Amino acid sequence: MFRTIRNIQARRAIARAEGVEGPRRIYSWIHVFRGEANARIPSDPGKLADDMVQGLYSCVGKSHSYNGVQIVPGVNAMIMSEGGLKHTAYDPVTGIATVGASVSVRELKEFLLTHDRRLINSGNYMAQTVVGALATGTHGFGERGVMADAVVGLTFLDGAGQRVTLKRGDPDFAYVALSFGTIAPIIELQIETVPVEAFISTSHINRLSKLRELQQGTIASNWAVLPYSDLEDPVMMLHTLAPCHAAARRANVRKGGGLLGPIANWIIGRYQWLDKWVPPMRRPLQRLINRLKIVRRDQIQTDPRDMDYLYDPTPGLAGDRPPNILRGCFSTTFTGYNLAFFVPLEKAPAVVKFIMREADDLRDLGFYLKGIISVRELTGTTPLVFGANHREPVAAIDLFADPRDYAWLERLQRLVLQYEPATRPHFGKSALMPEFRDALGQAELARLMNIHRTHYPQKNLMFSERVRAFLDVGRPLAGLAAADSGLVN
Ligand SMILES: Cc1cc2nc3c(=O)[nH]c(=O)nc-3n(C[C@H](O)[C@H](O)[C@H](O)COP(=O)(O)OP(=O)(O)OC[C@H]3O[C@@H](n4cnc5c(N)ncnc54)[C@H](O)[C@@H]3O)c2cc1C
Repeated sequence: MFRTIRNIQARRAIARAEGVEGPRRIYSWIHVFRGEANARIPSDPGKLADDMVQGLYSCVGKSHSYNGVQIVPGVNAMIMSEGGLKHTAYDPVTGIATVGASVSVRELKEFLLTHDRRLINSGNYMAQTVVGALATGTHGFGERGVMADAVVGLTFLDGAGQRVTLKRGDPDFAYVALSFGTIAPIIELQIETVPVEAFISTSHINRLSKLRELQQGTIASNWAVLPYSDLEDPVMMLHTLAPCHAAARRANVRKGGGLLGPIANWIIGRYQWLDKWVPPMRRPLQRLINRLKIVRRDQIQTDPRDMDYLYDPTPGLAGDRPPNILRGCFSTTFTGYNLAFFVPLEKAPAVVKFIMREADDLRDLGFYLKGIISVRELTGTTPLVFGANHREPVAAIDLFADPRDYAWLERLQRLVLQYEPATRPHFGKSALMPEFRDALGQAELARLMNIHRTHYPQKNLMFSERVRAFLDVGRPLAGLAAADSGLVN
């Protein structure tokens, strides 16, 4: 009770601090990471440049990364999302959009809709800044799934506050366009866009063993398993997209479900709520869903002006409407701490089963995965060196747990890395650790650091402690606890 009141008070205090310069506690999403910094609000590029030369600084977007990559204690934190770099523009000849660093993904999408355009891909939540999302490799699923893959040009300020512009094809571009805070502030991006488009969206409840069969003829897949349903062949929810050539509207299709279908619908419809508020029900519920042996298929034609790309038949945002049973299962990000990483695409089913077994084995210690294990398939490859699918197509695996169980997720990540060394990090969600260096390429990381040193010889740009440890470039800055205890001076 008291803790809840304290949490509410703390959140209110943070909300009150919005838009105000001065000492501020910065929290990652779900508050697992935090740090005290001196907030600076970049009302325009001139003020931003002036603030940069005042001392050590870092950049914060909307602070929605889970893993604390945006938090650097003790420095001037440029709170880009609260700043005035709000400009957007669209060139109808090239189809390229220009966007400032304070613009959110949602604002950009709303702007693009006024030109009947959309982003090639995006994640499933949109309060983040476009620049922050791109910097950490935020992705959706399907072809060109990493959002930063659509960037064709960018402008950042160097350590002296001077503008530097890079275009696709410039030697350093493929490093800087997805550089997780090591080149900052990026003040403007140019992004490819495509015309709004409808898809045939099909959702299945089935078994993991049917995955490849059900994917035939589709262009993009997002699937999820219930981790405690069946270790051999878990219950799977699959969402696929297929091209939609017909100008005429396709009728909605619903097949399967059987006699127990209504019961399954009821359970799955409340699954997220129960999972969140009645955790002991988590495993029994999944076992029950498993026993019902439901096989179901729902097909719809998406609205071309659907904005969140959760792919539903209505324009705008799914969050503004009652949830659809199946699609609701894919939006789990509010229910707990989320840790994610990428594995080679074809290995995903095996990795998921491995995680299920490891997690199941930890039950007697009180650890439970929350909700689902979600898998988004990123087909094709990207030229961006630190893009998840730079070397090969990958699957993004998202794990969820109570925030107090964060460390168990980190252990699961470490185990996956041990057996699958090609595992690559999500820079906004993975526990960033040196073990990722080989998969990203030691030489590529060294090249990024050279680019960093060229533009920031003043050493005033600080990036996250975790990234510094990961890149092996210096000791962490002292947090308050370390300083107060006399551990560092
Ligand atoms: C509810 C929710 C849903 C999510 N869904 C998805 C999803 O579907 N797919 C997915 O891949 N991820 C997803 N994420 C993760 C999220 O997209 C990333 O963590 C993203 O980085 C957050 O953007 P931000 O603006 O909050 O950036 P922050 O977290 O504030 O910062 C991220 C990084 O960007 C750097 N940065 C910020 N601004 C600048 C700048 N102007 N110039 C240079 N560097 C800068 C920071 O220094 C930091 O290193 C989700 C997160 C949440 C909370």
